[in-house]
Amino acid sequence: MSTGFLEDASFNQSPPFGDLDLFSADRPLADAAARYGLDLKALARCGKDYGSAETLDLGRVANENPPKLRTMDGKGNRIDFVEFHPAYHALMAKSIGWGIHSAAHDGSEPAGPLTSRAMRLYLATQAESGHLCPITMTHACIGALKAEPNVLARWQAKILSREYDRRPLPWWEKTGVTLGMGMTERQGGTDVRANITQAAPQGDHVALSGHKWFMSAPMCDAFLVLAQGPGGLTCYLMPRYRPDGSQNAIRFQRLKDKLGNKSNASSEVEFHGAWAERIGPEGAGVRTIIEMVNLTRLDCAVASAGQMRIGLSQALSHIRNRSVFQRRLVDQPAMRAVAADMALELEAQVALVFRLAHAVDASATDPREAAYARLLTPAVKFLVCKSAPAMVYEALECLGGNGYTEDLPMARLYREAPLNAIWEGSGNVMALDVLRAAGRHPEATLDTLSRLVRTAAQAVNVGPLAQSLERTLKSPDAQRRARFLCEGLARIAALAALVEANSPFATLYGDTRLGGLPSSQFGAAELGSHETALMDRALAA
Ligand SMILES: Cc1cc2nc3c(=O)[nH]c(=O)nc-3n(C[C@H](O)[C@H](O)[C@H](O)COP(=O)(O)OP(=O)(O)OC[C@H]3O[C@@H](n4cnc5c(N)ncnc54)[C@H](O)[C@@H]3O)c2cc1C
Repeated sequence: MSTGFLEDASFNQSPPFGDLDLFSADRPLADAAARYGLDLKALARCGKDYGSAETLDLGRVANENPPKLRTMDGKGNRIDFVEFHPAYHALMAKSIGWGIHSAAHDGSEPAGPLTSRAMRLYLATQAESGHLCPITMTHACIGALKAEPNVLARWQAKILSREYDRRPLPWWEKTGVTLGMGMTERQGGTDVRANITQAAPQGDHVALSGHKWFMSAPMCDAFLVLAQGPGGLTCYLMPRYRPDGSQNAIRFQRLKDKLGNKSNASSEVEFHGAWAERIGPEGAGVRTIIEMVNLTRLDCAVASAGQMRIGLSQALSHIRNRSVFQRRLVDQPAMRAVAADMALELEAQVALVFRLAHAVDASATDPREAAYARLLTPAVKFLVCKSAPAMVYEALECLGGNGYTEDLPMARLYREAPLNAIWEGSGNVMALDVLRAAGRHPEATLDTLSRLVRTAAQAVNVGPLAQSLERTLKSPDAQRRARFLCEGLARIAALAALVEANSPFATLYGDTRLGGLPSSQFGAAELGSHETALMDRALAA
């Protein structure tokens, strides 16, 4: 018997979202995993874990209870400790357990280690994004630490460990560690050459003095820091504890009050002669840390795709169950057009991000894949990260008024969505990076572009666009057209990725995104008879 109007369960609401296998329900993802020969059973287990109602709720709780900075204990001793809610620790333990910080490096994934690990990141992000900041930085730090094999050899076992050890202890006493990075500063930001943090040589190490305006995940066990050494901007590894076991001179000033990303702490920090050791050659800080940044840029794109995926899944789950005007929303023609259009965009972007991950996997042995990865990493980050806020917003609207409340995850997702585009180089910086990569490797760039165009042309003739991109590349005014170049390149690569995947939607994507009249809002494109297939693939029942 009903106990009241608002408690009546028959009020035409969609059931709670959760307890689904995020991997198997996502056909574009599962197809990509099969294409690259990955372990489908392991990915399905991972998809179930992150799709469980319990894990999804950890994401809610971790964000409703943001971290707190405790600079001192009750007696005035510096502790510089950030306290997190148990839900955050549970998510950290889960993602470290799945090896999202390590699986690309530890030999556990013989086929496509980076791609397989990127898929787990994509699944984890659907439960919660904030905790993945230290996880992705730990994964990427290995790229930079390779420049100093002795240091990497000392740290490697702790970095690759699948045990999450939250205790504030010297790294060598812990069962597992996480790593962060302090690149940008207040006065320079993107322009890290303007950094003022100084590294004073002290025999076998340096003392760092200065600040970082954004240093996320401050409870990491060590940070890669860019500072001015005797030979110019250099990369250093700064642990939380000095080799004698005392706490390093790292003073957190404040945690940022951010739009979203609430579960993750991002600090303002000062270094008061902090102990650190050099990574890579003197003066080669940017060259050293770029090995890390290329990996985190790929992660930004993968994570944004994951955010769009969970938004779309929530939307589909809702419209399949909610009726309006005596008809389920999913059967209302105008709603079908919106949801299927989002599914088409994500079909292409998922194919694209994992095609890029595959290129990074293959880079070491295949120069053409290395050229693809170099040129496409900033372009893909640009397109995918910038697409997330728009798609998440549209998915939120599919849930109507409920979507706008804090009771459902859509509002949190919406606040999180713009961040990946800023992290690791914002939009213009990515567009300029495409130009830079093209300028440094002109022949490889033209070769990559012509190969993409040949593949894409199997679905749609992209010749006129490609010629326009080539003209832009050679133009003295290229910087002004950098976004045109970046987006055009990424769109052609997305189409080519669909063609390589034998997708039945390649021509549809090409026609609606690269054809004569691309529309700016989801739901305006003419999708013909493809709507049902697109929605069914996006969230298999
Ligand atoms: C939540 C959060 C956490 C962060 N955590 C970390 C961290 O852990 N470690 C770390 O090192 N940094 C961190 N950052 C900093 C982040 O990497 C930078 O904010 C980002 O790279 C942009 O730099 P900026 O803020 O200095 O902006 P600016 O460099 O001042 O850029 C401002 C705008 O100008 C544009 N722009 C820049 N150069 C050009 C150009 N040449 N031509 C045209 N346009 C240009 C940019 O695209 C941007 O839109 C974090 C930031 C946030 C928001």
